[in-house]
Amino acid sequence: MAIQPIRLFGDPVLVTPATEVVDFDKELRQLVSDLTETMQAAPGAGLAAPQIGVPLRVFVWDIDDELGHLINPSLDLSDEIQDGDEGCLSFPNLSYNTPRAFRAVAKGFNMHGDPVTVEGTELLARCLQHETDHLNGVLFIDRMTAEERKTAMKEIRESEWFGLATENGAKPTFKVSPHTTFGLGL
Ligand code: ZN
Repeated sequence: MAIQPIRLFGDPVLVTPATEVVDFDKELRQLVSDLTETMQAAPGAGLAAPQIGVPLRVFVWDIDDELGHLINPSLDLSDEIQDGDEGCLSFPNLSYNTPRAFRAVAKGFNMHGDPVTVEGTELLARCLQHETDHLNGVLFIDRMTAEERKTAMKEIRESEWFGLATENGAKPTFKVSPHTTFGLGL
């Protein structure tokens, strides 16, 4: 177990709410390790367990040279909003302006079952919101205005990865994102 294929938009696991972690065991620690390795290889700034096909409430991040992980998170958000481009490793090569709360406080657990609180602004706040959304089966295109979403969906349908995925009728997966500099991969 190590780097896992990243599930792409179109895979049902990405729109299915994930379940709470109950056992803080060796398998959970392996999952955190796999998520971290897969995120770093992509490379990306964040990755949630459903993105590697595991429907559990776990995500990891790598922001400002700090690795983190959170299990069973709940979020408290500021009223203040930030704009900015956001990408997603499940939508290779695409990024869109996505409004998010400027500050987020996430409460949850680390992989040993200890309660932890993570507080972030700007990029970390954006990541905490993006990854928690993944655990609820919500994708960043769901956070766009109807008009922006329409434009995004057109580009997604025209993208090479989406075409290949639907043509083969297989589960769309990418071993490693081929273009790594475009937008923020979360
Ligand atoms: Zn994402």
